[in-house]
Amino acid sequence: MKKRYLVTAALPYANGPLHIGHLAGAYLPADIYVRYLRLMGREVVFVCGSDEHGAAITVKARKEGTTPQAVVDQYHTVLKDTFEKIGIDFDIYHRTSAPIHHETSQDFFRKLLQKGAFLEETTEQYFDEVAGQFLADRYIVGTCPVCANPEAYGDQCEKCGSALSPTDLIDPKSMLSGSVPVKRPTKHWFLRLDQHEAWLREWINTGVADGKQLHNPADWKNHVLGQCNSWLDQGLQPRAMTRDLDWGVDVPQEIPGAEGKKLYVWLDAPIGYISATRQWALDNGKDWETYWKNDDTALVHFIGKDNIVFHCLIFPAILKAHGDYILPVNVPANQFLNLEGRKLSTSKNWAVWVHEYCAEFKGQEDALRYNMVKKMPEQADSEFTWKGFQETNNNELVNNLANFVNRVLVLSHKYYAGIVPAINPDLDFKSGWETDKTGSYDQELSLLYGKLREMGTEIERFNFREALRIVMEISGAGNALLQFNEPWKTVKDTPETVKVVLNLALQYVAVLSVAIRPFLPFSANRLRKMLNLGLLRDKGDLLAILNELVEGNPIVLPNHALGQSEHLFSRIPDEVIEAQIAKLGGGAPATASAAEKTTYEPMKDTIQYDDFAKMDIRTGKILTAEKMEKSKKLLKLSVDLGFETRTILSGIAEHFSPEEVVGQQVLVLANLAPRPMMGVESQGMILMAENEEGKLSFVSPATGWPNGFGVK
Ligand SMILES: [Zn+2]
Repeated sequence: MKKRYLVTAALPYANGPLHIGHLAGAYLPADIYVRYLRLMGREVVFVCGSDEHGAAITVKARKEGTTPQAVVDQYHTVLKDTFEKIGIDFDIYHRTSAPIHHETSQDFFRKLLQKGAFLEETTEQYFDEVAGQFLADRYIVGTCPVCANPEAYGDQCEKCGSALSPTDLIDPKSMLSGSVPVKRPTKHWFLRLDQHEAWLREWINTGVADGKQLHNPADWKNHVLGQCNSWLDQGLQPRAMTRDLDWGVDVPQEIPGAEGKKLYVWLDAPIGYISATRQWALDNGKDWETYWKNDDTALVHFIGKDNIVFHCLIFPAILKAHGDYILPVNVPANQFLNLEGRKLSTSKNWAVWVHEYCAEFKGQEDALRYNMVKKMPEQADSEFTWKGFQETNNNELVNNLANFVNRVLVLSHKYYAGIVPAINPDLDFKSGWETDKTGSYDQELSLLYGKLREMGTEIERFNFREALRIVMEISGAGNALLQFNEPWKTVKDTPETVKVVLNLALQYVAVLSVAIRPFLPFSANRLRKMLNLGLLRDKGDLLAILNELVEGNPIVLPNHALGQSEHLFSRIPDEVIEAQIAKLGGGAPATASAAEKTTYEPMKDTIQYDDFAKMDIRTGKILTAEKMEKSKKLLKLSVDLGFETRTILSGIAEHFSPEEVVGQQVLVLANLAPRPMMGVESQGMILMAENEEGKLSFVSPATGWPNGFGVK
């Protein structure tokens, strides 16, 4: 066993809020793992922070007419706040715009240069002559050579997912000026990944580096090894570690040719783990170097599968090239979480945003965490559905866990005034672990011990779903213990046996109050309060109860006064779930409350009431709709205005199908002069609302409102 742990979670990119895919991919598994280690009394530091560099930040700033610093300030705050609310308990949540990070990254670069890790090469890159600067890959748009998407970026096509380089694009254009970029020579520093291929292959597949066994590859996930080997098999090429950019960490300026160059974001981002650890050590009077440079530290990176290559090949190559650093013992990357049958998509707002969840489901943070663990994409992609979320909450958290806890507390208050009863441990009762099996008090304590050990083993193997299943098995057995012994029926005839059953049930609850802590931290504390056991210190609490149980000692002692029972979880009703489903994909992409800037159209000039009164706007209903031949945009509608039926051509065909709009109640500008369009006379105009993305919505009166009446 290693002496200490350094656990990192992927640095989220500070250009948007956090969604459930991020949570299930990297942060929740890391948090569970760390909480467990702390409960076992292990020395652990858990670091993360905002990744605030890279061209996507400057692109966003340009789009929003603000500065890159303003963008990262906004989202750093949002991300930090969201992590706190959903209970991701970092020791430090740092940021890569911090001076200590710039310093750490630059020192790293100098050392790599000194060690000859780079190849200096002058290559031709796209330059915008109008804007007078080199173009980051993200700043070049053109047609994707794979799928013909006309808006592919220089590094990636977001439509087909192909990784591209700017020279792959057909008809490239600069996003800065719209001009056609020209190629110009520029010098960059390339990491000699080709020189690292051999040792990386050995290290990944055998766990051996420099003749030392550093990890057992059997502990690594298959899909992680698979992705690494498929990269290694293609052969590693030198990769540029610098960029021509105006936002990021400067290449140390004393180096000849460094002017105007920044570190590649994928060089500086993982170094963010190191600078975060340094800052944490400064704040806490610790030595950061023991965490990064001592062989008895276990370094574990939690990431999503899109980051595997950087964490398993490129960052280790950087650490090795530097020479002073340890390598990760595991990179337990998760696969992707899908949402209601589709891929999560920020641009289509097909997502559940964690900050929105926390605002709308206050006090139910653990319900989301629970479902995320149940659906964690540990070995394969998985799926979140709101119905599934409701089911796991209502059937498992409420009916199993909360119900068990509540019954035990209520009965203990009813029979023993909330005082844990003293017992005769030799009395027999029916075990909750198996039907028709006689249980003994000692045996049951030892079963609980065994279950906690199993849970721990699974967590240490990064099998969080299985670990949670074991925890819920304890609760299930507790319910069965009550069900099989029916204390409410037997309390009069065999009161001494009922004391044993309830005392034991209280031991189950006490064990659960610690066992659920990694998964459901908020509920664990509520449970501690109900048991009047004092909040967890997250410092060896689990180890302490394991030590008691293995000796056959109970966790809550006779004569201990319990607290009051309260609801641990509450049912989530259908209408709440339906509202969430209805919200999916609608409106503009969600951004966190604080400061998302929407661009509104400017107000038109002031008019007088008479100007408005000239418009005859009427309520109506669409009776029929058909596509217009040769027109992509127009639908031909017949609209019931009560007193007559109008033919109206409406430019909504790209937004609605004919079937969708039949029966729709609408508002019609009825006195607009008739206009011939494509051989048909349009007799009025349907009023629509339009948002900033150009999406349309009908404007309609209340359901059932009669047709033909005016709008004032
Ligand atoms: Zn494409």
